[in-house]
Amino acid sequence: MTAWREMTVEGWGRYPRSVARCARPERLAEVGQALADRDGSPVLAHGLGRSYGDAALLAGGRVVLTERLDRMLGFDASTGWLTAEAGVSLLDVIRTFAPRGFFPPVVPGTQLVTLGGALAADIHGKNHHVAGSFSDHVRRVHLLVADGRTVVCDREHEPELFHATVGGMGLTGVVLSMDLQLVAIESPWIELETVRVSNLDHFFEVSAGSEAWPYTVSWIDCAATGKAMGRGVFMRGRHAGPGAAPSGRLIERLKAVVEPLLDARPIEPDWLLNRATIRAFNETYFRMHGRGVQRSFVHYEPFFFPLDAVKNWNRLYGARGMMQYQPVVPPDPDHRAMRTILERISTSGFASFLAVIKEFGESHHSGLSFPRPGTTLALDFPNHGQPLLDLMDTLDDVVLDAGGRLYLGKDARVTRERFQRMYPEWRAWRAVRDHWDPDGVFASDLGRRLGLVQDGAAPTGPTRSAA
Ligand SMILES: Cc1cc2nc3c(=O)[nH]c(=O)nc-3n(C[C@H](O)[C@H](O)[C@H](O)COP(=O)(O)OP(=O)(O)OC[C@H]3O[C@@H](n4cnc5c(N)ncnc54)[C@H](O)[C@@H]3O)c2cc1C
Repeated sequence: MTAWREMTVEGWGRYPRSVARCARPERLAEVGQALADRDGSPVLAHGLGRSYGDAALLAGGRVVLTERLDRMLGFDASTGWLTAEAGVSLLDVIRTFAPRGFFPPVVPGTQLVTLGGALAADIHGKNHHVAGSFSDHVRRVHLLVADGRTVVCDREHEPELFHATVGGMGLTGVVLSMDLQLVAIESPWIELETVRVSNLDHFFEVSAGSEAWPYTVSWIDCAATGKAMGRGVFMRGRHAGPGAAPSGRLIERLKAVVEPLLDARPIEPDWLLNRATIRAFNETYFRMHGRGVQRSFVHYEPFFFPLDAVKNWNRLYGARGMMQYQPVVPPDPDHRAMRTILERISTSGFASFLAVIKEFGESHHSGLSFPRPGTTLALDFPNHGQPLLDLMDTLDDVVLDAGGRLYLGKDARVTRERFQRMYPEWRAWRAVRDHWDPDGVFASDLGRRLGLVQDGAAPTGPTRSAA
């Protein structure tokens, strides 16, 4: 019998939270058992909870925590193909394979995500313009579906199920394992160039001139107004060759000393990240970077995952948590939507501590996978309640008018009606899901909010709370 334990489950934004019965299976077979022991309640897989909103929450349901399903099942060093259980984290993959000369093909801004979560959100990284999204590098998936069977799906076998699972936010079943192709690297170092960009036009100019770089992203000061609107620091990098950079030993030793000290868990200071401190940080960070192009070598950790250095940094936002807003809008020579979004934010008085902007490449997928050709902006806001929700509603209208969409892995609040206009593919996706899950076995708070699951899969009590 599965041991279920009632727990409050939250995403990285810590808004909203919901109570569910959770199980933490140690073996793949126990996931099937959990499905059998669900007692009529809906079920959802939960990875490392790095989605921001309610994608990994299921109020009143059964949540399967996958983090102990973390076995690497096979690796072919001649091709880079890794077979691993879905609870393996990118941290596990990198720590195991970077010293052997391999790296994940796509990484988000944290390595604390599971492979299952990465596929379910079809994550994108700084290399989307050349490498596409995570699913572009996944060959085959073992998926536990609603009737208790494990279905092996890929682009030839049950392709509809495979494509619906990519970006499907856990609503087609529980990913048990997958084949992922790692890429070869020659050192843990990244050859980095940073360019201070003075406004939005300058960002697009530098971005267009950086297409040959495999990794590009820009931090953006979204408090800047007028001619400085869109100013920031553009970063472009590539994996360095052997011997191109100093030995990694010193940095490894330093990290061992510093990392345990950087844990924001015990403090919850509501005052730490407010408008004034965020504006001061933005100004200082911008000025820290000199004019022109700066060249350096950095270790892959600070380059890809700068925030992982502070454990539980999400707690710096205090008990009310935070919300992330991440749209993508199609290419437009005048960048009207991006301009309007930045204008509205800078005049709203709400400041975003972390704001990044990036141009996606052409690769995109059917179903609910988020990336589309165009520009994406990701913004973290302290949770200011209704006034912030009102601002986001007005930003949704700009995104919709431009033909854009929001990233479900970051969302906690978009309305069903707006979501359905942003993702016209939802109906076809839903038909595939209903075929494989006619009784609504899989559900999530996000799925209920957006109409992605059957109405019968409704909460069974007052188990949802929002700060
Ligand atoms: C600091 C930070 C930076 C980030 N940067 C980026 C970025 O650059 N690009 C990007 O794309 N994302 C980014 N993200 C978001 C993150 O990559 C995704 O939300 C990812 O899905 C989180 O993985 P997880 O294992 O924590 O999954 P969870 O958050 O636990 O779950 C996310 C979704 O995946 C589903 N899921 C999890 N495991 C399984 C499974 N085994 N089978 C089926 N479904 C499953 C859940 O049901 C849920 O719907 C960032 C997040 C943080 C906190």
